[in-house]
Amino acid sequence: MSDKIMAVYNRAPVVFERGEGAWLYTADGEAYLDCVAGIATNGLGHANPILVAALTEQAGKIWHLSNIFRIPGQEELAQRLTANSFADVVFFGNSGSEAIECALKTARKFHAANGQPERIDVIGFAGSFHGRTYAAVNASGNAAYIEGFGPRLPGYVQLGLDDMDAIAAAIARPTTAALIVEPVQGEGGARALSGEWLAEVRRRCTEAGVLLIYDEVQSGMGRTGKLFAHQWFPGTEPDIMAVAKALGGGFPVGACLATAEAAKGMIFGAHGSTFGGNPLAMAVAIAAFDEIARPATLAHAAALAEDLSGGLRDIAGRYGDVIVDVRGKGLLIGVKLVTNNRDFMAAARDQRLLVAGGGDNCVRLLPPLNMTHDDAAEALRRFEATCTAVRAAQPKAA
Ligand SMILES: *Cc1c(COP(=O)(O)O)cnc(C)c1O
Repeated sequence: MSDKIMAVYNRAPVVFERGEGAWLYTADGEAYLDCVAGIATNGLGHANPILVAALTEQAGKIWHLSNIFRIPGQEELAQRLTANSFADVVFFGNSGSEAIECALKTARKFHAANGQPERIDVIGFAGSFHGRTYAAVNASGNAAYIEGFGPRLPGYVQLGLDDMDAIAAAIARPTTAALIVEPVQGEGGARALSGEWLAEVRRRCTEAGVLLIYDEVQSGMGRTGKLFAHQWFPGTEPDIMAVAKALGGGFPVGACLATAEAAKGMIFGAHGSTFGGNPLAMAVAIAAFDEIARPATLAHAAALAEDLSGGLRDIAGRYGDVIVDVRGKGLLIGVKLVTNNRDFMAAARDQRLLVAGGGDNCVRLLPPLNMTHDDAAEALRRFEATCTAVRAAQPKAA
């Protein structure tokens, strides 16, 4: 491995040359079944012909244009996103972190525009992940992402998801601007919030004039079988939402969605991006959106999720010495392990199965939404074979 690259990643010792659907191939033709999908990003699989066509067609026209010009693709994608969500307006960036950054700035600016600039506090949660910019790591409050980077930014409060009394008290404080939460925690270990939790927080935020921000960077774009995970629970819509990952099907693009009211401070000059929403990104994201938002795609994702999580629960029943439980929502599946999750990921690779890590000693399965039922069955066989191998490698109880 190269020492010319910053050592911030723990990379698996394997190199892929090409992909097709849910499969990745090494140069010497070894096939791996991909339940990582770029961390829920290749939502439509690798080398999807619809996305390849959209990309190559746009590549011959215009790649990039400054946002000082109209970009019709932005208008088209914003039309689709707002027609299919709570939102009225959209800002396009290049990543999840930038979508979060825009969400946090939009929330503070809203209160400033309302003549309440003292409302700056943002409530975040233990186990959350919002990306790696300064604002994002402070909003998450996870020590591993903050330590060594200087003082904490002011105005970020971290609470536990289970402490509703503390949450209620923090929402009611006059300096609180916003509350940010993932409807299904991803990196933290596939923890799905209940409809009751979301409804209670929605109600309290509305009462206190606090903006509710959802981070659906990982849980959105069909991952749970709805376009956005919170849409399983009508009445829990946020004021602002960050989306990225599968939005571009692997092409870097992110979006911050908001109601017109919440975005009222985001006037000319308040925010911007050079690359955000460029024609290449928009062409791919529009094609991805039209494919993901089809009822048949969402229904397939929901059915596939039933296959996989049902199958994993059966395996958990047979391997209580390896698996603690199966959790998550839709195709954002977490398997909490008894044995070390990094070791399990390596053992799965030996079975030519790719799974992602996650907090709380989980591995995550985040397959493409359009994985076939046959491939899902194969993933379960390989997962069980991994459990067998991990069990065999365990030291015998004394
Ligand atoms: C991946 C992720 C982010 C950050 O996205 P980047 O594109 O890596 O900046 C933010 N929030 C959640 C929930 C994510 O899963």
